[in-house]
Amino acid sequence: MKDIKITRTKQSRLSSLDFNNIPFGKVTSDHMFSAEYVDGEWINYEIKPVENLSLHPANLALHYGQSIFEGMKASITKEGVPMLLRPEMHARRFNASATRMCMPTFPEDDFVEILKLLVGMEKDWIPPVTGSAMYIRPIMFAKDAALGVKPSDTYQFLVLTLPVGPYYSRPVKLFAETQYVRAVEGGVGEAKTAGNYAASLYPTKKAIEKGYDQVLWLDSEEFKYIHEVGTMNIFFVFNEKDVVTPAINGCILKGVTRNTAIHLLGEAGYNVKERDLSILEVVEAYDNGTLTEVFGTGTAALVAHVEEINYKGKRIFLSEDNWGASEYLKAQINGLRDGTIEDTHGWMVPIKEPVLAE
Ligand SMILES: *Cc1c(COP(=O)(O)O)cnc(C)c1O
Repeated sequence: MKDIKITRTKQSRLSSLDFNNIPFGKVTSDHMFSAEYVDGEWINYEIKPVENLSLHPANLALHYGQSIFEGMKASITKEGVPMLLRPEMHARRFNASATRMCMPTFPEDDFVEILKLLVGMEKDWIPPVTGSAMYIRPIMFAKDAALGVKPSDTYQFLVLTLPVGPYYSRPVKLFAETQYVRAVEGGVGEAKTAGNYAASLYPTKKAIEKGYDQVLWLDSEEFKYIHEVGTMNIFFVFNEKDVVTPAINGCILKGVTRNTAIHLLGEAGYNVKERDLSILEVVEAYDNGTLTEVFGTGTAALVAHVEEINYKGKRIFLSEDNWGASEYLKAQINGLRDGTIEDTHGWMVPIKEPVLAE
């Protein structure tokens, strides 16, 4: 990897953090990673205090949206060793998003090494409370200052780390959307790109006004096949053992947690299928009593139980008495993360004490 210039903060902000009360997304650790893409290569690898950026008003990312990100979490074992969960899969997905948005890829080995360095350096920011973690936010955006719809020649890559307290996810209520869509075939639904989230805000606001938490997105042709939820993939359990999650079709974000769930549940004896799933099939299963459980998966909440789905006024209610697969999954992933369950898949990447030049 290229040399990294490291500039340490003169005054850590760590002492001002209340570990028992961390507002999600608002507090960053002291340092961030930064690199720039100029003349066809990534240069200026740097870890430095988090600071404001200076952007020209004609910045291409602001106008035309060439901007992608990742989201993952570092946990800490009982022995105090920070751990990453499947970081190389996030690196691959970041580059898949970059390619779709006509942006340069970032070397995947460097991506993982940088996360290890930065998290190792900021590990005291991981709250010493079970279930706490460090949220890691890599982001890449266009840097050219010249209007015109075309790919930027220059880019910036940043990695922020944010301490997060234990995530107590209450069950969510989903509104199946039959007017707006999140993704279309051939579109950018599979990319973790800024515009997808901007586009989801208005329908989500409408769903919240109706008393729901999030939108359940359906396909754009027939409003029939289930895609996913705002920042989560979705799983349906029939007869307690038959688990179905919508198959990847270019419209669905390929969640790392989704993939982990498919493996873990399959190994535990659940009959897991990735296939097209119609909302009508879900309604029918609810009516005949075979729909037992619905849950979402994603880095932020890990596993979120669904307590209600509203499809065209038809209300589907799910009971917590049937939280079998979701609770099993949550316990398994949490156990991997805190090192109490053996990692037989080679998914966990421990971060040893980093050796850093001053
Ligand atoms: C990030 C994201 C997910 C979840 O992916 P994970 O890798 O499991 O965190 C699901 N759907 C969307 C739209 C997302 O942006």
